[in-house]
Amino acid sequence: MASQRANRGYVVGSPEDEIKILEDMSPTSKVQHHNKQILTEMRTQNFDVIRFATYRTACKLRFIQKKTSLSVVDIWNIIEAFRENGLNTLEPESELNSSRVESVLNSIYVHLNKRLPLSQQVDSHQCVQMLLNWLVGAFDSVGRGKIKVFSLKVALSHMCAGKLVDKLRYVFTQISDSSGCLIRSRFIDYLKDLLALPTAVFEGPSFGYNDTACRSCFDNRTQINVNDFLNALMADPGPQCLMWLPILNKMAHVENVFHPVQCEGCHRESFMGFRYKCQRCYNYQLCQDCFWRGRTSGNHGNDHEMKEYTTYKSPAKQIGHALKKSLKCVPKSNAHVPQFPNTPEKKLDLSYIINLPFEEILELLKPPTPVPVRNGYHESSIVTSQSPDVLSIDSGNSPQSPSKLTESLNSMCIDDEHRLIARYAARLAADTKDAVSTIMMLTFISLTKFGSRDSNSTFNQDFIRHL
Ligand SMILES: [Zn+2]
Ligand SMILES: [Zn+2]
Repeated sequence: MASQRANRGYVVGSPEDEIKILEDMSPTSKVQHHNKQILTEMRTQNFDVIRFATYRTACKLRFIQKKTSLSVVDIWNIIEAFRENGLNTLEPESELNSSRVESVLNSIYVHLNKRLPLSQQVDSHQCVQMLLNWLVGAFDSVGRGKIKVFSLKVALSHMCAGKLVDKLRYVFTQISDSSGCLIRSRFIDYLKDLLALPTAVFEGPSFGYNDTACRSCFDNRTQINVNDFLNALMADPGPQCLMWLPILNKMAHVENVFHPVQCEGCHRESFMGFRYKCQRCYNYQLCQDCFWRGRTSGNHGNDHEMKEYTTYKSPAKQIGHALKKSLKCVPKSNAHVPQFPNTPEKKLDLSYIINLPFEEILELLKPPTPVPVRNGYHESSIVTSQSPDVLSIDSGNSPQSPSKLTESLNSMCIDDEHRLIARYAARLAADTKDAVSTIMMLTFISLTKFGSRDSNSTFNQDFIRHL
């Protein structure tokens, strides 16, 4: 039993242990007091009874996220705050004192309140103090009152809201060289700082940094580009030391998912969050609170295999989905990691545009003559793409369909318009004094040139009548 617990990373420290760790982490009494406040509140949530280290860690970090309102600050706002406070010009190893960290945090919350409606404003002073003290507790183990620039970047970019892929892409820019290759020593620094986050909520025994952590992410390849990095860290399952990370990111979305089914553990009629279904007992479902805490009922046991659900589909939709799946119409549900250029993208050089003569700038700004397009295909491709394959993609527009006929008529109309323009131009040549007609013709030509096909408009009707 003990080994089973150890395998699951089930380590629950006593309150005395935690106070001891707290004292070790932050010797400054003021910091210790504030840090203790948020961690004491976390303790009242009773997360320690959660059986699984990954969910327990994610729950605790989610609590800190929400308590400090980082849950409503997007990764892009965090990156902007780094830039605004000049962190991009500092070496990663340089240290910031508490007041400098405080001003970075302050700018994050001041900007957040500018974006939020009055009714949802956050107490920026309280958020800054809570977060500052938690960060000092996590990264200033010797109590020097300083945090490394890199540690602050890692902590805030992972504790804020936003997509995991965006967070990891940002991190990669901080730990790769100019040719887009991972610097291994920087990756180790990153892992140390990232794993300081679980350690700061007393999950160090399960997810603290050790020498095997780096090896569990990458093999001995010499060159690791951004796609290798994303594929390794976002794999399912990913490296053992980072298993809490995707769950933490998923939690923000899943906690708003409503399941209108009864939980067999607590007998609630409906619940939010993750849902678990037993693969052995018929239609036996549990809410996340019951499953994570090991609550069972009837013949169901904790050793039964459970399947996790992050969405809810009504039975009717499930049948439809199963049918589509059997017809192979459903794409694979595996999360697809997007691909990015392996080498860093070059910065846009717009200087040459400024140096151009004014006439050339005007030329650049002119809208291009549009190539006639139908249903996303260019005219030329329509002529040559009458194969059944292409038509089956666009099944609503078979040659006999009304919309296709309308298009053919429109096309004839355009040809007629061109003939009319030619006739009208010939007439104008004979009577160049007709200034009004000249303006009308030029307007009409420009409308035609820039793609207006609205031959039913009042202007066009009047124009045609005038001929
Ligand atoms: Zn329940
Ligand atoms: Zn069961």
